[in-house]
Amino acid sequence: LSGPSLECPQSGDVARLLPRPTGESDKYRRGVLAMAVGSDRYRGAAVLAVGGALRAGVGMVRYAGSEGVVGEVLSRWPEAVASVLDPMDPLAALPRRVAAWVVGPGRGLHPMARAELEAVVETELPVLLDADAVTLVSKKPELVRERSAPTLLTPHAGELARLLPGTERTDVEGGRLSYASRAADEYGCTVLLKGSTTVVAEPGRPAVANPTGSPLLATAGTGDVLAGVIGSFMAAGLAPREAAAAGAYVHGLAARLARDGAPVSASDLFDALPAALAEVG
Ligand code: AMP
Ligand code: MG
Repeated sequence: LSGPSLECPQSGDVARLLPRPTGESDKYRRGVLAMAVGSDRYRGAAVLAVGGALRAGVGMVRYAGSEGVVGEVLSRWPEAVASVLDPMDPLAALPRRVAAWVVGPGRGLHPMARAELEAVVETELPVLLDADAVTLVSKKPELVRERSAPTLLTPHAGELARLLPGTERTDVEGGRLSYASRAADEYGCTVLLKGSTTVVAEPGRPAVANPTGSPLLATAGTGDVLAGVIGSFMAAGLAPREAAAAGAYVHGLAARLARDGAPVSASDLFDALPAALAEVG
């Protein structure tokens, strides 16, 4: 294998990374995660990403979205703290006192989504950008290049190809590690490339390959759950590379455990995540 050296975490490595509540913990110290995910068109993305974060042990999810999506999120996850965005002033509802952000899954590419993304990346907080947020970044790379705070992009192969002009999805599939590393270098941030063998690349650090991946995950919505899981770890204080590696590990394990190897859908991962975390120990 050419290119950067590769590390492959074992269960014990992930166990050492996982955030754990202690006697001194409270919901704020465990991490408040703000989530700009889902939209009227993709309500499920909000439910899936919020659920991923909650089941990974986040201290609090602060959700902001349209009235319809807020209702959907709260009916599935009453523990989420949700507020309705004012369409005339979407940035007014940006939650405060947060430790990290997840932006993008199902959020859309419209001007309001772009304004929201721009406001989030202007903060000094750790940020995970997935899906539509990755696409918006591909149109305006300085949104990430000019950030100095921790930033993680979590594209699949098609989204990663968009980040590197002149690159096709099939190119990425043929050289996953080297393209993930190239994107990490060009954007100056951490990149988790999803798909068959998920890899995490970061400038100047060895790349990480996830050993627990499973093609069972190749169904709609599983990436949204992953964004929530990793976001939860970032809100607890893990650096993007470690949060991404640990998140991919437990997410893959959850897919294997969810139905004993039978097909899983994204929401099956909710109940399997605690089992996967317990198995890691
Ligand atoms: P997304 O592309 O955002 O829907 O996310 C899909 C999720 O499924 C990611 O966690 C991928 O790593 C995972 N996935 C998709 N295809 C495969 C595959 N062939 N093998 C293993 N994992 C996969
Ligand atoms: Mg996705």
